[in-house]
Order: sequence, then structure tokens, then C-alpha cells
Amino acid sequence: MDFSLSSQQLMTQKMVSNFAQKEVAPIIKEFDRKQEPIPWVLKRMGELGILGLPFPVRYGGGGMDYLSLGLACEELEAVDTHLRVVMSGHTGLCGMTLFQWGSEAQKQTFLVPLAKGEKIGCGAFTEPGTGSDLAAIRSAARREGDHYVLSGEKMWISLASKADLVLITVRTDSTAQKAAEGLSTFIVDLSSKGVTRGELHGKLGVRAGATGWLSFQDVEVPVENRVGQEGEGFKITMSAFDHGRYTVASGATGIIRASLEASVRYAKARQTFGKPIAEHQLIQEKIAQMAQDYEIARLLYYQVGWLKNQGKRATRETSVAKKFATEASFHAAAEAIQVHGAYGYSDEFDVERYLRNAKGAMIYEGSSEIQLLIQAGYALAERADKPLRCELPAYDEASWQSLIIAKT
Ligand SMILES: Cc1cc2nc3c(=O)[nH]c(=O)nc-3n(C[C@H](O)[C@H](O)[C@H](O)COP(=O)(O)OP(=O)(O)OC[C@H]3O[C@@H](n4cnc5c(N)ncnc54)[C@H](O)[C@@H]3O)c2cc1C
Repeated sequence: MDFSLSSQQLMTQKMVSNFAQKEVAPIIKEFDRKQEPIPWVLKRMGELGILGLPFPVRYGGGGMDYLSLGLACEELEAVDTHLRVVMSGHTGLCGMTLFQWGSEAQKQTFLVPLAKGEKIGCGAFTEPGTGSDLAAIRSAARREGDHYVLSGEKMWISLASKADLVLITVRTDSTAQKAAEGLSTFIVDLSSKGVTRGELHGKLGVRAGATGWLSFQDVEVPVENRVGQEGEGFKITMSAFDHGRYTVASGATGIIRASLEASVRYAKARQTFGKPIAEHQLIQEKIAQMAQDYEIARLLYYQVGWLKNQGKRATRETSVAKKFATEASFHAAAEAIQVHGAYGYSDEFDVERYLRNAKGAMIYEGSSEIQLLIQAGYALAERADKPLRCELPAYDEASWQSLIIAKT
């Protein structure tokens, strides 16, 4: 593995960093306090091509590789988690899953406007009664001729109130021998009759991000909006998590870096007992731990980006990266508050926001406990990756940047 970044990757990193640091950082505190999304953020991320970074140009994307997506997420979350959450919901859960499992017609109809940022997507799996145990999904769709009739509730959905499209997994067969085999995935237009939605308020973190609920009452969904085959919903959802977790892992790496940089800055400026606190070894230990965790988290997500670029499944590696980076980011943010003393405990500094934001990532897209179960499954050989009917395509620079659709 060669982890030196190409000039295109460096350019992407710089462009995303400029956007986040210059346009969002100066106002994020205000919107986090108000618990309101920044009104122009999604449009701007679309204009800059950030929302469609890892998709081929022929699908309206930026033609960049999967590692570039991780680099972008790190830069976004180094400023605020809600920016990376956009990439997790829109680009990871919705767009990349469509790219992997969708038909050519679905890619033309849905992925192109998503990649261009003309439409916003989200991924809806969690329900009021189930999160970790997705096989227990109760929302359901029944086929009636050329359409399905879909009903149910989805909860804790990032971008629920902003999205035009949702990639949603529901039950289509209540008699399947294994509950997971009775699930199917659809791409649903959220302006359809029978859809209602709202926002959730009072969250601990990601306060400038829109998190909400979706309700479906006898919503007619054309058969051509079914992604994959009937009964493939669980596998498709697990693919969605492979992509979403990668964005979460790379984003959390940005929190570690931001905590480290804030701590170094403050420790050099603040004096106690006649010298900068950076010269006290107990403070140095905290900074050293953050530096070490940043390095590990970065290498772990680079590995996933590299595997994705090769077209190799990375479920285990993604799980390790997600578990490590999210927990390390929570720890780094907590220690950054400690380094800042009382000032760190107020929102005068950013570090308290990092801590509130970091906690959520230990819960969503598979909690830390679920990641441990996944990793134990691989280690004990109780779990192995079986080939999927549709794999995420390997990155190929020439075809990604070409406007011509390759014949398969
Ligand atoms: C800010 C935010 C954004 C989100 N965005 C989305 C989104 O865009 N789309 C979406 O579909 N969902 C989203 N979610 C929901 C998230 O994915 C779920 O909260 C998560 O999967 C956990 O489910 P749960 O909250 O129902 O917890 P539960 O599944 O009820 O788990 C509760 C606790 O029990 C533990 N636990 C569960 N099972 C086991 C077990 N077998 N062994 C040991 N411990 C276990 C869990 O780790 C957790 O600590 C979001 C959540 C948040 C907070």
C-alpha cells in the first residue's frame, strides 16, 4: 500500500478544507447554539462538487476515488460533525449504495441528481422500535401490480427534513424463514403522497445538523424504485453501512486532529507555575496520546479507502476503523477540554462541541458494541464475507473521469 496522496487527492483535501475552515468555521458556533442547520450548506456543498466526489463523471460525480471521500470527511468533521453527517447520509448511505446496487436506469434517474447536488438523499433504516437489530424492521411494503404500497415509521434519520429521496429498507415478506431475508430496499421520492416528516430537537450534539423522522402511510412506490431484488434488503443495508461507517471513521479522525491542534495551541499559550502548560509532562501525555490516536485512525481509514479503490470488501477493516476512530475522538475531545481547564468547559472554545459531537458516532451506523460483535465474529471465524451479487466497483481513474458509459 502506498499512502502518499496524489495531486488530485491533495487538491480535493485543500478545496474541502478551505470550504469548511473559511465558510463554515466562523459561523458554526452560532448555528450550533441555535440548534439550526446553516441554510445554504447543502447547496454550497453541491456547487463545490463535494456531495458527488466519489462518483464517476458520467453519473454527475467528481470522478474522484474513495480515499478522496475519506479525506473530505476528515476535513469536514475537523470543523463540525454535521458537515460530515451530510456525506454519511447523502453520499455514503444513499448515493454509494445506489451506485453499488442500483440498475443503470436507477443510476441515471436518481444517482445523477444526487451526485450533482441537485437532489439530497438520506438513508432510513432505524425505526422507533429497532436500531441495532435491523432484522426486526417492522415498516413494510406489499406489492400491488406495478407498484408497492409502503407504510411505517423511520426515526433518527439524518437529513430527513431536507432530503428529496430516501433509500429505505422495509419488510416485504413477513413469512421469510429468517427475518433478515424478508427485507427489501427502495428509493422513494419524499414528495410522494402519504409521506410526512419532522425534525428531532434537543440532541446532545450535531446540533447544526438536521435529524428527523419519516412516516409513510400507504405510499405508492413504483416497482422500478426497488433497489436490488426482493429479499436483498438486509445485504443492501449492510453495504450501505460499509460506506456510511467509512465516512464516520474518517470524519472522527478529523475530530482527533482538531482536538490535538486546539490542545497544542492552548497548551503553548496558557501558563501555570511559571511556564506554559505544554511543558508539564502530564499535559504532554494527553497531547502525545492524541497525536498517536490521530496517526492510527488516519492509517485505518486510509486502509479502507485503499481497499475500496481496489474493489475489495472492507467490512471488517471498516468496523475496526469506525470503532477505533469514534472512541479515540471522544477521548481526544474529553482530554482537550481537560487541557483547556475551565475555558474548555464553555462554548467559548470549540472543544466542548467536539465532545458532544463525538459521542453520537459511538452510537450511529452500528454502535461500538455492534462493532465489537462484528470483529469477534471475524476473529472467531463465525463470520466471513460471502460474494455479493453487486459489489462496489473498483476505482478506475480513466472510466471514472470519462463521460462514456462502459459496456458491461
Ligand atoms: C445523530 C444521529 C443520526 C442518525 N442518523 C441515522 C440515519 O441517517 N439513518 C438511520 O437509519 N439511523 C440513524 N441513526 C440511528 C442509529 O443508527 C441508531 O441509533 C443505532 O443503530 C443504534 O440503535 P438504537 O438507538 O435503536 O439502540 P439499540 O439498538 O436499542 O441499542 C441500545 C444499546 O444496546 C446496545 N446493544 C444492542 N444490541 C446489543 C447486543 N447484541 N450486544 C450488546 N449490546 C447491544 C447498543 O450498542 C446500545 O448501546 C442516527 C442516530 C443518531 C443519534
